[in-house]
Amino acid sequence: MSKIEQTLSGLKGDRTHVIVGDGITALAFLEASISRDIDHVVVIGARASQLGRGAAYAKGEPDMPWRYAYLLNSPADDIDPKFAKWLADRWDSVSQRMQGRSPDWLGAAASLVANGDVYGVNAPREFYGDFMEEQAQTLIAGFETRGVTVTLLDDIATSLNLGENTSIGTKGGRTLCAKTVDVAPGGPSTMRIQGDDGAFSAPSVFGFETRIAEHIKSGAEIFCIGGNAAMLDVLRLCQSLIPERDLRFVACAPDGEIPTPLVPRLPRKLTRPHFSTDHETADSFLAEVRREIDKALSDGDEMREIRAGFRAHFLENPLSTYLPNIEEARKVPGALRFWLRGGTRDTIHDMHRFVDEGKARVVTGLVQKVVHQDDGAEVVVTEADGQQQRIKTGFVVNCAGAGPGSQFDPLTEDMLAQGLLSRSHVGGGLQVGAGCHTTAQAVRYLSPAVSEIGDEVVAMPLYDAHMLRSYVARSH
Ligand SMILES: Cc1cc2nc3c(=O)[nH]c(=O)nc-3n(C[C@H](O)[C@H](O)[C@H](O)COP(=O)(O)OP(=O)(O)OC[C@H]3O[C@@H](n4cnc5c(N)ncnc54)[C@H](O)[C@@H]3O)c2cc1C
Repeated sequence: MSKIEQTLSGLKGDRTHVIVGDGITALAFLEASISRDIDHVVVIGARASQLGRGAAYAKGEPDMPWRYAYLLNSPADDIDPKFAKWLADRWDSVSQRMQGRSPDWLGAAASLVANGDVYGVNAPREFYGDFMEEQAQTLIAGFETRGVTVTLLDDIATSLNLGENTSIGTKGGRTLCAKTVDVAPGGPSTMRIQGDDGAFSAPSVFGFETRIAEHIKSGAEIFCIGGNAAMLDVLRLCQSLIPERDLRFVACAPDGEIPTPLVPRLPRKLTRPHFSTDHETADSFLAEVRREIDKALSDGDEMREIRAGFRAHFLENPLSTYLPNIEEARKVPGALRFWLRGGTRDTIHDMHRFVDEGKARVVTGLVQKVVHQDDGAEVVVTEADGQQQRIKTGFVVNCAGAGPGSQFDPLTEDMLAQGLLSRSHVGGGLQVGAGCHTTAQAVRYLSPAVSEIGDEVVAMPLYDAHMLRSYVARSH
């Protein structure tokens, strides 16, 4: 019997806390459990042994050209000032590691570095994972010094049964007992689109790089369904594999727009919005939001300043401060998400350049399906006026993000079936109680898919490392 199995077999659960998930939210829950009266924490995650990385900041394969290609969407200090310092402290070794890589990350960072603003770079996501994994190890050492054992269990939790203690079933056939449980399993899968997994298509970029790379290298035009962060990652994947002159790239999005780049400036500034209280409708509140965004833009504020300023504002002033009617409040996050859309500076600048040079184009419309032919794919797109067009292309990557038909992990599905969590009828986000509690007091839940916490509709979406960590820190 392995050491882990021996430790787990002795667990009664009375003084055990279980955390499900291995990303930054799970790590934040571990940090928050320091005040619990426990002698054992078990973290169950697909890669719990790399706690802190999760799906977004995973370690790449050593020899793959696209290792380090995927970047954080915001300047390092918007993600976490401590991470920005960590990065700046290691700048020499970071520069060495990134030397000669394609795309030219160091070249894109050069103007910031010359300006003394290393904190403003869009770091490779794997570096943030390195930082978080280091944080996890330090935290675990602290627990062990206090006599609390931390077990990192690489497994998937599939079910949860409430009783005097809670028992958690796993894919690996284990049953663990715990007094309290925190669940942080990340967001749902990308929505599927008919024909997105075939000879000339992939249902996602992540995990399908090797298959997509073959087509990129053979010179195929790469067509992305969706125009957000994952599309920008596909562009970076292409740039890591072929010279720019050979690039042929298409992004298709309903609004036909590329997100605004989040450009940092010194000194850092946050837009400070002002709203009046006691709005009765979402329309009336959103009119004020729009006015404040337009005012900031006309004052010359960058989208980074506006977005980070609104995020800070809503973390301190919940939506109900301005719009008490929860049904109306549910209509707000969709508009905020759209208006404050922003992304990776380096890649968005590249995308605009490629469009100008005729290497990339943006198609406006909603992809209905992908049809496979002998030598490539045909994408069926509905335009805003309802007209259909069929676009012949080389290889299609589904970057559509979550949507109708998306699936959650098995534990979340089980918790929904038991009524521990519910789904909002507006947008389908998950609803948890105050302090991230589920309907069972011993079980808490937080993921980017959560749209309501207690009586509060979260104004800005939780697909954001800083927001998730902030909400865990304030949950009890
Ligand atoms: C590819 C990608 C890039 C992103 N880039 C940024 C960015 O640049 N900036 C930003 O602020 N945000 C970004 N995000 C948003 C991101 O969701 C959050 O920042 C954050 O990483 C979410 O952390 P998490 O721990 O909640 O979830 P995740 O990172 O998704 O981690 C959850 C983990 O739990 C595991 N898991 C799921 N179900 C179970 C189960 N039942 N049992 C055991 N383990 C389970 C999963 O395998 C996963 O590893 C990105 C997200 C993705 C997916």
